[in-house]
Amino acid sequence: MHFGTITLLVFIMLTNPIRLSAQENRQDMSKQEIKAKLTPLQYKVTQEKGTEHPFTGEYWDFFEKGTYTCICCGAKLFDSDTKYHSGCGWPSFSDSPYKDNIEEVPDYSHGMVRVEVICKQCNAHLGHVFNDGPKPTGIRYCINSASLKFIPKSK
Ligand code: FE
Repeated sequence: MHFGTITLLVFIMLTNPIRLSAQENRQDMSKQEIKAKLTPLQYKVTQEKGTEHPFTGEYWDFFEKGTYTCICCGAKLFDSDTKYHSGCGWPSFSDSPYKDNIEEVPDYSHGMVRVEVICKQCNAHLGHVFNDGPKPTGIRYCINSASLKFIPKSK
């Protein structure tokens, strides 16, 4: 092997762990920042894929006009126009005008096959989406209140 190549390899080996630990530190920092601004329940739901107890959240029985944003990053997620009373105990939406901010990923946890809904901007866990919603979409976004922040429509 050429001496220059060996030097380069040694250099990469030596510098990589340093770079990795710097990245880990950055992630820890942002996790700490997120933790500082959320309640323990908001943190558990959005960062650890938790679920609030049904019929306990701030918005399951709340029908003011406005926009629902991500509690972590503020991205717009849902609108009161498509919020409906599903009876499941969590805020339910039949559609979203902000689909660009929502990502759906397969979830095989807890022995079920579901589709998880996350914030595309910050990866916060929001809830799940089911196909038992009202017409015309037939969709039910079942979202934790703890992952949302409601912004009232200005009059
Ligand atoms: Fe977010």
